[in-house]
Amino acid sequence: MTNHGESLLHDHPHRRFNLLTAEWILVSPHRPKRPWQGKLEHTTTEPRPSYDPNCYLCPGNLRARGARNPVYSGTFVFDNDFAALLPTTPADSLDEGGLLVAAGEQGVCRVVCFSPRHDVTLAEMTEEQILKIVNVWAEEYHALAERPFIGYVQIFENKGEMMGCSNPHPHCQIWAQHSVPVEPAKEMVQLRRYRELRGTCLLCEYLRVELKKGDRIVFENEGFVVLIPFWAVWPFETLVLPRRHVSDIMALSGRERETFADALRRITVRYDNLFSVSFPYSSGIHQAPTDNELHPEWHMHMHFYPPLLRSATVKKFMVGYEMLANPQRDITAEESAGRLREQSDTHFTVAQKPRLQ
Ligand SMILES: [Zn+2]
Ligand SMILES: [Zn+2]
Ligand SMILES: [Zn+2]
Repeated sequence: MTNHGESLLHDHPHRRFNLLTAEWILVSPHRPKRPWQGKLEHTTTEPRPSYDPNCYLCPGNLRARGARNPVYSGTFVFDNDFAALLPTTPADSLDEGGLLVAAGEQGVCRVVCFSPRHDVTLAEMTEEQILKIVNVWAEEYHALAERPFIGYVQIFENKGEMMGCSNPHPHCQIWAQHSVPVEPAKEMVQLRRYRELRGTCLLCEYLRVELKKGDRIVFENEGFVVLIPFWAVWPFETLVLPRRHVSDIMALSGRERETFADALRRITVRYDNLFSVSFPYSSGIHQAPTDNELHPEWHMHMHFYPPLLRSATVKKFMVGYEMLANPQRDITAEESAGRLREQSDTHFTVAQKPRLQ
């Protein structure tokens, strides 16, 4: 890039192109220091109990529809009691002159409890504990892919009340369905197009460029790189990318799964350390559809979309211009990467514990 280009990225309003979705975002690096008179979120330091008798995810507790959780000791997976998708949905469709279009959608919704402990998050778990979760994700992806009506498996976590998460017990959800939903479908178009035009993988090539430039890399280990994508929308959005071209989580080797667990522990710890708060986010894995087709274009990856902007109490809202035009950000991806790069991999609550001499 020319010097002129560098100045564009750091000093002047500009648009950036999202390679994965073919959408644009507006970056306004000249105005991050404007005064904030908007909404402040509240934080709490109230400790949570390790077991909550009223939590429907804690071991041994009764769930809303009468099932009782086993007294589990590691992870625990079950069908969501209030599933948004059902396997028994009829394959009806509606098309009135191309104007009113609808189709029945079959699917399955699963819940994965990360731990029997009510009071921990990924950031407070060990790499070994997170590895067990990664293995459960791979098992679930495989088992759901075996069902003939499942064409796509979406694994995602909503963490924190700010993200609308109704239960603080550490867990994620898996929604598996017949069709490829909107976000991965947009990425699939771009991944395919790049492969057809250039004969290589868009994300392999993108990763190569980012590793060479370095200024958006947060950290890397043997198997994975965590970076702020060039086109990031959320202030501290990250992309967790395997170095090797693997299309789904099943294809990760045992060693790669360990490095995935290490990357997940470190990014969630750094998020918590950034504003000394249990950092809210939505995260999820994008990977190859399970439609019995070959998908060499897919390079699996995980997104983290955290809503916090400049402190534990200032949230970024996607309203106004974002809803009507396209996303916009002030702090650049490069500045955000620098902030996350300087964070410790040791969780702040652990670091603050008094040490015995
Ligand atoms: Zn619980
Ligand atoms: Zn690739
Ligand atoms: Zn993606």
